[in-house]
Amino acid sequence: MTYLGSKRLANFKKSRTDPIIKPHANSERYKDRPGMSESHLQLIRKMPCAICLRTPGGECHHLKSAPGRGMGIRTEDKWGVPLCRTDHDIVERAGTKNEISLFKDAGIDCHLLANDLWAATGNLPQMIKILMAHRWHGKK
Ligand SMILES: [Zn+2]
Repeated sequence: MTYLGSKRLANFKKSRTDPIIKPHANSERYKDRPGMSESHLQLIRKMPCAICLRTPGGECHHLKSAPGRGMGIRTEDKWGVPLCRTDHDIVERAGTKNEISLFKDAGIDCHLLANDLWAATGNLPQMIKILMAHRWHGKK
């Protein structure tokens, strides 16, 4: 009993000091997922707000209603759309269910916009043109 007991205690101690590996926002593993790009986020933040057109919007909203969103893990950067602080707060508070309609009110299909911005990433003037085209196209 004493031998087994001390061995169990040793194993317990070892497992307590093992590093805990889990993906989170700051880990390299998380950032290296496909569809992730810090440079894309930087460009998105320089764009006008998709809802009110304040320039620059200054923030990137990761669409909650996009596919691939896991528990506690936001969607990939490719699902980022430009927003200002005020509209970002409104969209975040409205939640996943109301996200699509909030963008629709500004004439925007948010998933199509994110998709087109990701396709043009690296070219800020082109990304801004795409945003404006989405707004004109959506207004009926
Ligand atoms: Zn705004």
